[in-house]
Amino acid sequence: MKSIVSRIAALAVASAFLVNAGAAEAPRAANSYLSQADAAARSARVSNVDYVLQFALTGKESFSGTSELHFDLNDAAAALTIDLDKADITALTVNGKSVAPQYNGWFLTIAPQDLRQGRNVVAVSYTRLHSTNGEGLHRMVDPADGKVYTYSHFEPAAAHQMFALFDQPDLKASYQITVTAPPDWTVISAKRETSVTPAGDFKRWTFPATKKLSPYNFSMHAGPYKVWEDDSGKYPMRLFARQSVAAQIAPQLWFNYTKAGLAFFDDYFGVPYQWEKYDQLLVPDFLYGAMENSAAITFAEGGFLHSEAMTTAQSASLAGVIMHEMAHQWFGDLVTMKWWNGLWLNESFASFMGTLGTAESTEFKNEWQHFYSTRKQQAYAADQRVTTHPIEVAVPSTANAFDNIDAITYSKGASTLMQLRHLLGADVFREGVHNYLVKYAYQNATLDDFIGSLGEAAHRDLGPWTQ
Ligand SMILES: [Zn+2]
Repeated sequence: MKSIVSRIAALAVASAFLVNAGAAEAPRAANSYLSQADAAARSARVSNVDYVLQFALTGKESFSGTSELHFDLNDAAAALTIDLDKADITALTVNGKSVAPQYNGWFLTIAPQDLRQGRNVVAVSYTRLHSTNGEGLHRMVDPADGKVYTYSHFEPAAAHQMFALFDQPDLKASYQITVTAPPDWTVISAKRETSVTPAGDFKRWTFPATKKLSPYNFSMHAGPYKVWEDDSGKYPMRLFARQSVAAQIAPQLWFNYTKAGLAFFDDYFGVPYQWEKYDQLLVPDFLYGAMENSAAITFAEGGFLHSEAMTTAQSASLAGVIMHEMAHQWFGDLVTMKWWNGLWLNESFASFMGTLGTAESTEFKNEWQHFYSTRKQQAYAADQRVTTHPIEVAVPSTANAFDNIDAITYSKGASTLMQLRHLLGADVFREGVHNYLVKYAYQNATLDDFIGSLGEAAHRDLGPWTQ
């Protein structure tokens, strides 16, 4: 994610409702958040998760869907919760048996007697209002022409505003989706569709199952988007935007930086890009700067629209944000933090790699000087205030996931990684990053895992550096 500060006020409100994380055995607190203790208790019992998701989109204010959760359960001794926010549930079956929903508006509780040790299938049908707050499945009516656009945003834990799931990063899953949508819409997700067929007044878009992803890295966007395509690189690239702003976008510049970045990161990481195609969308009302959804990255359109030719500074900014989100496709999407206390490393690494990728694969060779004179200065300033904090802080609940996401997290963190690269040497650092990505691919990892891979490559104990 590329940060902006507007979320701070919203989180101050959210924090007021924080319920302290209790022991894992205590019943889950009835609110829209998930505590670290409850998440850990759930991922200790649940594994091997696959979602089969259907969505019916009409362009109206609400949508309907069916979520099938397929998963292994270690034990059926206790109830299991499934996240689903503010839905009207129309049907619930657990292992083929129709069950009356035990639902508080934030999560379903499945009783032990309906569960079984081993493979379980839970199917939930529901209707829900589209979000208008930028999370879940956001809907926007373009004031210019009345066209309706939707896009998803899930970080840190808003996928349950769109479908039923285990909404935590360490329960990676595959997602197989089918979407019915108005006939002039395009549906964009982590994979390219396998078919688009007529379905009454709508079209049905069918997608193959994804590789394993954390919920916050999966996405689905739909609307009458303008599309540009470029197949001149190793991976097919597309760019999407609202029809009414299409004239204010320079698609060739996007494709140039994207193609250069993909070639650079493939080579740098020594692990080829895993998500087969590269889609980027400019979307309205976006809460942040950009978001690294696997193979379907979203950008706040306001920062990238221009009626005149782009200035050098605007082009550099565009290149930098593209590279930041692209770095996350490996460090974030392929290897993912276990819990939100690791978000700083995710963002620090993407900030570091985004700067490196921009400096080494675009015309902006002085990107590190630019980093020093802007973002690093912001980190110094933040560090001198009474509100300073360690780079890593505890995150007891998803309500706190973004509490300390600021210049210290992003830019001081990125600076420490640059320092570490100087300490180890550029080649050793790169070898350690490569080994980390190979060792933990499609899994979750922690700071110790990352530092362990670097230390192994360097043949030295980096414990004191971490301290
Ligand atoms: Zn980021």
